[in-house]
Amino acid sequence: MEMERRDFLKLTAGALTYALATESTWAQTTKVEVQWLGQASTRLTTLTGKVIVIDPFLTNNPKTPPQYKNLDSLGKVDVILVTHGHGDHTGDVKELAARTGAPVLGPAGLIATMIDLGWVAPEKGVRFGKGGRVNPLGPQVTITQVRAEHSSEVTVVDPVTKKSTTYPGGEPCGFIVEFENGFKLYHMGDTGLFGDMKLIGEYYKPDLVMIPIGGHFVMDPRDAAYATKEMLRPKYAIPIHYGTFPVLRGTPQEYQGALGQTTVQVFPISPSDKLTF
Ligand SMILES: [Zn+2]
Repeated sequence: MEMERRDFLKLTAGALTYALATESTWAQTTKVEVQWLGQASTRLTTLTGKVIVIDPFLTNNPKTPPQYKNLDSLGKVDVILVTHGHGDHTGDVKELAARTGAPVLGPAGLIATMIDLGWVAPEKGVRFGKGGRVNPLGPQVTITQVRAEHSSEVTVVDPVTKKSTTYPGGEPCGFIVEFENGFKLYHMGDTGLFGDMKLIGEYYKPDLVMIPIGGHFVMDPRDAAYATKEMLRPKYAIPIHYGTFPVLRGTPQEYQGALGQTTVQVFPISPSDKLTF
């Protein structure tokens, strides 16, 4: 009970932030739901109730609230998307795929390795490439794979000998999810700044970006602010991939400070918070 009430309060706080920020659009009560679960882990619910999970890393994620360490708390899952092979993005892919039977989509080389390792059943792995569009939930929801400036390897540690082995993980990517109502979310995966963010902004016109700000492996707050303001120009932004590990030092406050005066509405939410768009 206590847990439920706390969730409700957190949820209310998230909704309030949103309502204050965008009073006019709030009244339309559109129903794309975005839930951030820490690091890059994200659960999306489409207008027709389909559930997309991106980069599941929950059970060993220090920022994921305890109730989400049980993967069943995600409910039904229709599609799993993976941006690249690092453990803080793939940690729960194998278990979640097994529990839900959902197809796993991502960079061709990454999915090939996951199939070879037995994480994903061959018939459930969907390999696709940057620039490719797929519709695993039917024609009304389109997922486009786009570039990310990062790396991708899959490192497996033998539980007995502790020896680690590293496999190729294809090329890293981000995803643009276009929902039934035309709303476009750009989950950037892990990335540094790159010039084609301007192309992505102009061509795909994302409404919402989920943008890494932690630094060290990805953009820091200043880089992320430049990408947001000068290249992507979304309506909304949710900072992600910070605070999980000590090296990911960037904070939402620094990101907002670097953005300065802007029309972009930033939601510095906490893991497990939900927003609707
Ligand atoms: Zn990462």
